[in-house]
Amino acid sequence: MRIHVIQTGTVAIKQVQTRGRSSGNPILNILLDPKWTEPLPIYAFVIEHPEGLIVVDTGETARVAEPGYFPWWHPYFRFAVREWVKPEEEIGPQMRALGFEPDDVRWVLLTHLHTDHAGGLAHFPKAEHLLSRREYANDIGVLGLVRGFLPNRWPRWFQPTLFDMQPEPVGAFQTSYTVTQAGDVHFVPTPGHTVGHLSVVVTTPEVTYLLAGDASYTQELMLNEQVDGVSVDRQRARRTLEQIHAFCRATPTVYLPSHDPDTPDRLANRQLAIASPASNTALIVGKEKSYA
Ligand SMILES: [Zn+2]
Repeated sequence: MRIHVIQTGTVAIKQVQTRGRSSGNPILNILLDPKWTEPLPIYAFVIEHPEGLIVVDTGETARVAEPGYFPWWHPYFRFAVREWVKPEEEIGPQMRALGFEPDDVRWVLLTHLHTDHAGGLAHFPKAEHLLSRREYANDIGVLGLVRGFLPNRWPRWFQPTLFDMQPEPVGAFQTSYTVTQAGDVHFVPTPGHTVGHLSVVVTTPEVTYLLAGDASYTQELMLNEQVDGVSVDRQRARRTLEQIHAFCRATPTVYLPSHDPDTPDRLANRQLAIASPASNTALIVGKEKSYA
């Protein structure tokens, strides 16, 4: 199994969005913050798995540069986010450059449907798209649009396979949803950033990878358990960060958020979130198995 990271352009957001304030209205805090982040990478992942090619999130589309792509009336899109994506930076062309055909992808796993994770959906009309039922219900329709999703921009054919979490623990997570027959790729619930946000846990004999979507913008923010500025339920978001932190303490984990500039280096060097976790054995479906 091999994991590849693909950068589909960059995004700048308000600084208060990455590390939120515990007081005030989250949206107002963001709109009123005069300080922008540097342009942050937008990552998506391709997993070469014996059961087929897996894509985790689809990155952003170059269409963000089209006038009117974002709803003009929406204060977040109007005042609080800027994105830069060239056509050749979309996930489709980049996969082909790596020697993969997007039509060969078996599963597209979606952490959530914010535009910088769902922008590349159009490249995968033939794949099965997997998404939490809870997240989908939150992101669709006019309410989804008001909440900052772009359901009007998803491909017409987009009909994800929706699932609920199953009572099968994976490390610190009490529930999960297993994708592969081999039982080495799971969704785990990481709500906070969005109500149905999921992360993807990939277990290999050497190390466990946690593809965290936007559970935190950087590894440091996760280790400090610092909730972001868009989480509606800050308590729930903090519990998620505590759980991820506990997961990384218990098992050797490479932590890979979607916008952390260190993600590619960490992936390439298998750099652990916590250098000496409690056990030096990789996680296998709720149990731990030694490879010594
Ligand atoms: Zn997001």
